[in-house]
Amino acid sequence: MAILTKAPRGTQDVLPADSYRWQVVEDIIRETARLYGFKEIRFPTFEHTELYQRSVGDTTDVVQKEMYTFLDKGDRSITLRPEGTAGTVRAMIEHGLLGGVLPVKAYYLTSCFRYEKPQAGRLREFHQFGAELFGAASPTADAEMIALASEIFKMLGVTGLRLAINSIGCPTCRASYHQALTEYFSARKEELCATCRERLATNPMRILDCKSPVCSGIAAGAPVILDFLCDECKEHFEGVKARLSDLEIPYTVDPGIVRGLDYYTKTVFEFISDDIGAQGTVCGGGRYDGLVAELGGAPTPALGFGMGLERLLLLLQAQGIELPEPRPCELYLVSIGEAANRRALALTNALRKEGFYVDCDQMGRSVKAQMKYADKLGSVYTLVLGEDELQSGKAQLKQMDTGETRQVELSAAALSEVLYQAGTDRLNDALADWFPQE
Ligand code: ATP
Ligand code: MG
Repeated sequence: MAILTKAPRGTQDVLPADSYRWQVVEDIIRETARLYGFKEIRFPTFEHTELYQRSVGDTTDVVQKEMYTFLDKGDRSITLRPEGTAGTVRAMIEHGLLGGVLPVKAYYLTSCFRYEKPQAGRLREFHQFGAELFGAASPTADAEMIALASEIFKMLGVTGLRLAINSIGCPTCRASYHQALTEYFSARKEELCATCRERLATNPMRILDCKSPVCSGIAAGAPVILDFLCDECKEHFEGVKARLSDLEIPYTVDPGIVRGLDYYTKTVFEFISDDIGAQGTVCGGGRYDGLVAELGGAPTPALGFGMGLERLLLLLQAQGIELPEPRPCELYLVSIGEAANRRALALTNALRKEGFYVDCDQMGRSVKAQMKYADKLGSVYTLVLGEDELQSGKAQLKQMDTGETRQVELSAAALSEVLYQAGTDRLNDALADWFPQE
């Protein structure tokens, strides 16, 4: 039955040999988030469907087409999270965090689920790094968020990402913009796709984000929100731009960026790459000053972004960026016979307690096969343990890359000394490479 041995369409396994790539990226993200004052939040994989309908928005592609929604055994409508902002806001309100010290800064590294047509950079289960900041209305907060995303790209060494920013205004300026859009699209209603014809009445701005070539062609000539901004939104946008310049973060203003989720207000932004094909948006976010109140909390300005980790990893690969591989096995204890195998196991565990990655045979292999396996692990040293070694309490330690051997005392203390010294030497060599003496 192929169904037993094939993962569902649009999902991906991360295999043991590759997981370090995810871990390196996640470590850099966590460390950068820490420096910016963000603490991790974890929330459920599923929520009440109404939460996403209310926050992401009834007229969005996500809610209309992409959600994994089902009735549970208690007849409740449940949805697998398509994004992380709604769950974060729900948790903030539920636990009263927004009534305390502000701003609250939270981040997550989490899976998201959207029923989409799988292709490069577009999966049905994907992963996001998301960061959210609550309580700050100032443009400094917008710049802070953009700086966080930008710093992560810098730390990972990715280049060539274009930061596009826009302001989509507040409910005040949006009213007159909606009217202008409605007039514009109504004139060409017959050409729009069925979904967009409906959106014309409910939420004309959504048409700007439609993926159909015909609709996006028409949208290209539509009125631009920047021409409709109220004074406050205009001033805010100018403030964001000034701070990005202060931080030397290059950007372009792109009035076509409206984002796929309904809750955005004022600043929206995307980091886009040309190196990973059609799904080039690696990070998208913006301000959502109305969302907390919409979900039943006290009015609280807020903003955030989501960064797609699969797209980020694709980008690293496309740019040939090598991530540090995990340290290989430091010592493999080859054993001949049961007594030696038991001694090898005991020594292995004693050395692991000292903090060294050490391994020994668990397969009952021949000496030759054990050596071959040690080689596969990339083990720095091997040591063969047989009757003679057990008797004499001494053994030959072999350095695998040079083939050099030397006699060592067969005790955890002595071996640990050797491994410690070898580690220090490697570190000094690496430092000498990084900082050569004049
Ligand atoms: P797109 O326009 O590519 O569909 P979106 O506007 O739906 O993106 P957001 O909801 O803003 O995306 O999600 C933030 C980020 O999450 C995206 O920029 C992207 O990197 C990633 N992402 C979104 N959907 C997927 C998916 N189906 N597969 C992989 N990554 C995704
Ligand atoms: Mg999408």
